[in-house]
Amino acid sequence: MLRAIPVTGVPVVGGGFFPVRRVYCVGRNYLDHIREMGEADERDPPFFFQKPRDSVVPDGSRVPYPPFTDDFQFEVELVIAIGRAGRNIDAEEALEYIWGYAVGIDLTRRDRQREARDLKLPWEAGKSFDASAPCGAIAPARDARHFSGCAITLSVNGIEKQRGDIGQMIWTVPEIVAQLSQQMKLEPGDLIYTGTPAGVGPIVPGDVIDARIEGLPSLGITITSPEPY
Ligand code: MN
Repeated sequence: MLRAIPVTGVPVVGGGFFPVRRVYCVGRNYLDHIREMGEADERDPPFFFQKPRDSVVPDGSRVPYPPFTDDFQFEVELVIAIGRAGRNIDAEEALEYIWGYAVGIDLTRRDRQREARDLKLPWEAGKSFDASAPCGAIAPARDARHFSGCAITLSVNGIEKQRGDIGQMIWTVPEIVAQLSQQMKLEPGDLIYTGTPAGVGPIVPGDVIDARIEGLPSLGITITSPEPY
């Protein structure tokens, strides 16, 4: 028998869950990461891709090393949680649509992503797989305390691999919300992963990953052996 598909919910600081509708990601948003990836034009506008809703997994998750890759990598990112519906939102009003923020990791099959780029194929194989969107607890954006300049870091087994500042983003949080809302109607429950700073790299089973953004709950995951397919 078919069963109802459960709603993916991300824990909220202080209790309760944020029900996830869609998961969007910004393709490139920090100059130093664009340079380490050898991308051609640093002034290109950002582009968006999606991950499946059920690829979101919470803090403390054990994430099996995925199939179909030999180069599994981390990308720490600020995640925006949308709380209000809107199209063609002005950047000046974009903060009113944000319900909260979290630390996220855009897990990536880097080999598949590079192939997609080189062969001009879609990005799904590199980005949109099971458990590819770990997301920490969401902190409600109370008191208009929005993020515009604070440390974003990721360590593997206690060794720091990524360190950046939210202020280094090419496109700011309000600009990202405004741009995405020109392409898609945003709805409550949408998450937007906003891109990663430099320092991305490979991970293997047994690795313990700790992702942090100043002022938000940290996000920890452990990579485990591949599941049998
Ligand atoms: Mn990313």
